[in-house]
Amino acid sequence: MRDLAALPKAHLHLHFTGSMRLETLVELATATRTRLPASLLDGDPLRVPADRRGWFRFQRAYDTARALVRSEETMRRLVLEAAMDDAAEGSRRLEMQVDPTSYAPFVGGITPALEIILDAADQATALTGVEVAVIVAASRMRHPLDGRTLARLAVRYAGDSPGRVVGFGLSNDERAGQTASWGPAFAIARRGGLACVPHGGELLGPEHVREVVRALGPTRLGHGVRTGEDPALLEEVVDRGISLEVCPASNVGLGVYPCAQEVPLPALLAHGAQVALGADDPLLFQSRLVDQYEIARSLGCDDAALAELARGSIRASLASPRSKQQWLAQVEDWLAGPDPASSATGDGAPGGARDRGDGPAAGRREADQRGSGRPEAPSR
Ligand SMILES: [Zn+2]
Repeated sequence: MRDLAALPKAHLHLHFTGSMRLETLVELATATRTRLPASLLDGDPLRVPADRRGWFRFQRAYDTARALVRSEETMRRLVLEAAMDDAAEGSRRLEMQVDPTSYAPFVGGITPALEIILDAADQATALTGVEVAVIVAASRMRHPLDGRTLARLAVRYAGDSPGRVVGFGLSNDERAGQTASWGPAFAIARRGGLACVPHGGELLGPEHVREVVRALGPTRLGHGVRTGEDPALLEEVVDRGISLEVCPASNVGLGVYPCAQEVPLPALLAHGAQVALGADDPLLFQSRLVDQYEIARSLGCDDAALAELARGSIRASLASPRSKQQWLAQVEDWLAGPDPASSATGDGAPGGARDRGDGPAAGRREADQRGSGRPEAPSR
């Protein structure tokens, strides 16, 4: 039972607005006299049914938060706070998804919007030590031609260092639009050297995953958690080397599984899938990165299996081979370190003994405690 916040890992599935701290949301809402819906403030994670109505409720809450991000200063703040929170959770690498279209009207266009985020990612890397890279994600709610425009823009800023665009994604309701119609956008991204990381296989099952794999050629699948419903497909995904960005709290929040215990993570791992755990939208699901590892622990993963999950996240990241090698060695150090549970009290363990509470709630308490000592984002 080693400290999971000290386990070196990579965070590969986090949305820009969805990463926002609740206190930041409240501050922004207060400053603009915006009334926030009770569902964002009641202290409970968002829970919706896995149907269109449920997605609509999720999207409405997300849009409320996104509507408060209306300036360069706020955009920079979000990137920095996400990196700071990741740093506190042992993340070495954050690959953050953003659709710059949403913020373009407030900063003079889509290109400045992306440039602000990339520059903020570069600064956040320097300030926190977490490598922050960017995934430009098209939305299924927009026209596929907009996706091509975004892909061309993303390619112009492609690179594998922090503060560059490393991948191209496709987000929003999996049921919207025809997957194949985004094929040309992904072809542009691929030709430009970007990894392809579309969402798929969370709200919809194996048929959808098959379509995403065929039409978009993913390097990683955002979620893909339902791939295992068809063992032959899972085998194909594993054989093709497609990693899965599994976000257990998100699956529960969106009603895909009734509780974290039903998330089929152990089955995916047993079939050899390379998994990177992610938080998706901590603002709405009130569950951050370490919470996902806590869930994996509650699903039966021991420290060796959790270390393997962390290795999976690092291997699946788009970081340089040198960075990956360094972090993988740090995972070995974590696993070779003392196990507080097997010592007398564990109080002397680095980072202090952890609360032995279960699941996301325990993680949230710790996040709150960490929050009290967290440095504030510099104001500009
Ligand atoms: Zn997502």
